[in-house]
Amino acid sequence: MQTYIGLNSDRRDLLKMAVLAGLASAISSPASAQQQVTFEPPARPMPTVDTRYPAEMAPGVFIIPDKRIPLVPNIGIIVGTESVLVVDCGLGIDSAENVLRLTRELAPGRRIFLTVTHAHPEHGFGAQVFKNDARIYYNRSQADYFRRSGQTLLDGFRSGVLPESQKHLLDGIVLTPPHETYDTPESMLDLGGREVRLKTWGTAHSPGDQIVYLPREGVLFGGDLLEERMFPIVPFFPPMIQVEDIDLAKWEVALNDIIQLRPRLIVPGHGNLGGVEIPEAVLAYFGSLRETVGSQDTSDADAQRFLRERYATWENPEFIGPAVRYIRQRG
Ligand SMILES: [Zn+2]
Repeated sequence: MQTYIGLNSDRRDLLKMAVLAGLASAISSPASAQQQVTFEPPARPMPTVDTRYPAEMAPGVFIIPDKRIPLVPNIGIIVGTESVLVVDCGLGIDSAENVLRLTRELAPGRRIFLTVTHAHPEHGFGAQVFKNDARIYYNRSQADYFRRSGQTLLDGFRSGVLPESQKHLLDGIVLTPPHETYDTPESMLDLGGREVRLKTWGTAHSPGDQIVYLPREGVLFGGDLLEERMFPIVPFFPPMIQVEDIDLAKWEVALNDIIQLRPRLIVPGHGNLGGVEIPEAVLAYFGSLRETVGSQDTSDADAQRFLRERYATWENPEFIGPAVRYIRQRG
């Protein structure tokens, strides 16, 4: 029996000629001539929260990882003996329904709270699904921002952020404010044997960002104050998001405070889990950004190119430009 390895050289030559002839005919045939080889990038994955693989990072503390899919946030489900707290519910009704279903599975019979790390659509524009079954709770500053800018954000996401194939995710979205808010810089929730702190610095990445922190377990959910190996989302997209909706200096204060808390585990808004190296990297990037843009003779294009090269492995370079423009305008 003849195997390929065992082919004698004449037969190998014949085989090669046959292959080449086949290629040549394919190239020269009129039908194939029209078939240009193009390298279409794969379609962006649908940003629907995939709840099939929750990870338990501490007893009763679950993460639904974002799988590094754009516009999917990392989501938390924190289970106490009395209540369960959901941190963010994703973009759209399907995502929120998935998260609510998983919450009921992981915490049967518990009273449900929903909080959102901040008012941007991919973190909580689906909260209506929770309205009748949960208490929605976050801070006053975020609630105010949501009330005055929620519709603008919804319209802006539909027209300028979501690709055509994903715009339907916003169909049927009803802007849903919280049932309750807190006015203080920090609020504590007791879920039954589990203490959770919600902490805000006012406007940083957005008006009313908050972290969700479990002091005993050392687990911290940072929302979009933190991105991991991705360019931080400096969301300067006027007229949808104005310069006064961001405060980079306060954002840096928040990052330093997060580092001081020495959390054991940090869950960024987007990207993989880690420790304090995540806020440290975001702070270092902001330092580079200020330094680069600060030098008088650097054009915006040069600054962007420099930052792209310096952080060559980071994802989402589309957020460099807005960051540069924000620094130019606000400092
Ligand atoms: Zn955000």
